[in-house]
Amino acid sequence: MTAIREQLNRLLTPGATSLSAPELAALLKAQGKSCDAIYAAAEQVRQHSMGEAVHLRGIIEFSNVCKNNCWYCGIRCGNDHVARYRMTAEEIVDTAKNAKLWGCGTVVLQSGEDPFFTAAILSDIVRRVKGETGLAVTLSVGVRSRDELAQLKEAGCDRYLLRFETTSNALFSALHPDEPFEHRVQCLVDLRALGYQVGSGFMIGLPGTTLEMIANDILFATRLKLDMIGCGPFLSHPDTPLAGKPLLEDRSVYYKTIALLRLLNPTAHIPATTAFDALEPEGRNHVLMRGANVFMPNVTPGKYRRLYQLYPNKPCVDEEGAACALCVRGRLAALGREIGTGPGHSVRQP
Ligand code: SF4
Repeated sequence: MTAIREQLNRLLTPGATSLSAPELAALLKAQGKSCDAIYAAAEQVRQHSMGEAVHLRGIIEFSNVCKNNCWYCGIRCGNDHVARYRMTAEEIVDTAKNAKLWGCGTVVLQSGEDPFFTAAILSDIVRRVKGETGLAVTLSVGVRSRDELAQLKEAGCDRYLLRFETTSNALFSALHPDEPFEHRVQCLVDLRALGYQVGSGFMIGLPGTTLEMIANDILFATRLKLDMIGCGPFLSHPDTPLAGKPLLEDRSVYYKTIALLRLLNPTAHIPATTAFDALEPEGRNHVLMRGANVFMPNVTPGKYRRLYQLYPNKPCVDEEGAACALCVRGRLAALGREIGTGPGHSVRQP
């Protein structure tokens, strides 16, 4: 416990040297009171840096078409069991209006890497959503060229989310047959240079991952100085080459990862990602009490939700609209948290 306390004190002391990957891996191993001390420290930092507000970012899953074949993903192009859909621009704008009514300050427009949605088409949608709702817009549409990203920024896009998933080159190459790690990193660099608020993150517990690898992912996410850090557990999808791969034996590693990210990134927005509710029923609540300050309700129209399953047992596929909004409010109230007002832009210092 003393060693854990010393390391936590170092993380809590401004200007102190950061921890090494082996030291972070040791924290990821912590159990019992040591584990609770990590959660408590993360909450202390979250309260001090981000307050009690939880920002709502409504996710609109507007296309489940993807040209890629990532090994862990339920909507990979090689999965013939998926009925594909694309929402129209009208549907997307109407859904964004609903998200505003339900209290979201941001909409996250998310899709597979769908070539139909060119930068020109997406730019038109971004302009319309911003013009007709005033909401902040995040795009999460995969790797794009710098020119495309510039066009989308020009259209008014505020933020972009692109996870790097793992910093292990060998693991990344094995799981992503369609693109190298360097392209994702270049895309993140371009986004920053173009003035986006940048979000990224990784999947916790991909097959073959060690605690030291998770520690490296935490350090890499920290080095990127991200405005938003989104991480979720790897959940094996039955229609993928990773079917049947197990969860991490020690479930607390998923939560300690979030807590350590908060300790190392006091002012980053950190969402309680939906996949935590698929890990266990109250998963997102636990994450909100271990350093997270963002909740991403799914506002996609009900008829499409079931068709966008990156992982199995996705929660909230049977709910719709206003019921979701009520549920989210109830959850946050039960945790003693308030709903954030406004767009919830980045609070990081440039
Ligand atoms: S993870 Fe993204 S890019 Fe990869 S197959 Fe799934 S939707 Fe496509």
